[in-house]
Amino acid sequence: TTPRYVHVRVTPLDDELCLAVVNDNTESRAAEQSRREFAVNVSHELKTPVGALSLLAETIEDGADDPELVRKFSKKMRKESRRLSKLIQEIIEISRLQGGGSVLEHEELHLEGVVHEAIEGSRLGAEAKDMRLVTDLRERPTVVGDRDLLVMALRNLIDNAIAYSDEGAEVVVSVGARDGVASVAVIDKGIGIETKDQERIFERFYRADPARSRETGGTGLGLSIVKHIALQHSGSVALWSEPGVGSTFTFKLAVHQEGS
Ligand code: ADP
Repeated sequence: TTPRYVHVRVTPLDDELCLAVVNDNTESRAAEQSRREFAVNVSHELKTPVGALSLLAETIEDGADDPELVRKFSKKMRKESRRLSKLIQEIIEISRLQGGGSVLEHEELHLEGVVHEAIEGSRLGAEAKDMRLVTDLRERPTVVGDRDLLVMALRNLIDNAIAYSDEGAEVVVSVGARDGVASVAVIDKGIGIETKDQERIFERFYRADPARSRETGGTGLGLSIVKHIALQHSGSVALWSEPGVGSTFTFKLAVHQEGS
């Protein structure tokens, strides 16, 4: 069994009796530990792009009279800045989602509308890799939730499907509903995920292939944001994947019943 952390306070009442108050603070200690780890990870993650930016700036200074070099390194600086700004944005988002500080909207939404908005947001990224995003509307369920957060979750899944597939590949986004559960499946024929990584990729900053994630501008926070958005909607995210075959991420949430 896992150890529990308890705080015991004993107060003597008289010569024979005393009052003992036992406080189990295992959960709060775990939360505190997780906050500390997050802070360490965040500083580590921020150091990488900041270090790269500083090095690139130095290189530009040294070779200021070579316009080709200046152009090349400025471009790299722009890429690092974009990564840094995405990272900061996602850190804020995840702190908001985890801290319970976010107030969720509860709107009635047509799931296909949410899917279309997410696809529109990812379209440029797909075009840059000559990829097609295909929608497969099997059902047209209505759900209740926060539109912006749901779009963010689906965009993360679609952007990953694009990032971890080869150029020219196709990503299918399928909308279904069964037994009161609405689902959006994002299906790719990309590199896939090994079994040993499948559980861990929803953890903050966990990447199956750090070099590839870095190359695609990944932050390692996307899936953890998706998981939290699902939990906040009393939903879930399921994963099927096979290396070399592809991955399917299925985001599920309750169908809104008319009149409820
Ligand atoms: P990242 O910003 O690195 O993409 P995520 O949290 O979105 O971070 O994903 C975590 C890791 O899961 C990725 O680094 C990658 O290794 C793996 N991953 C996520 N989506 C896919 C996918 N569709 N195909 C293959 N691997 C994926």
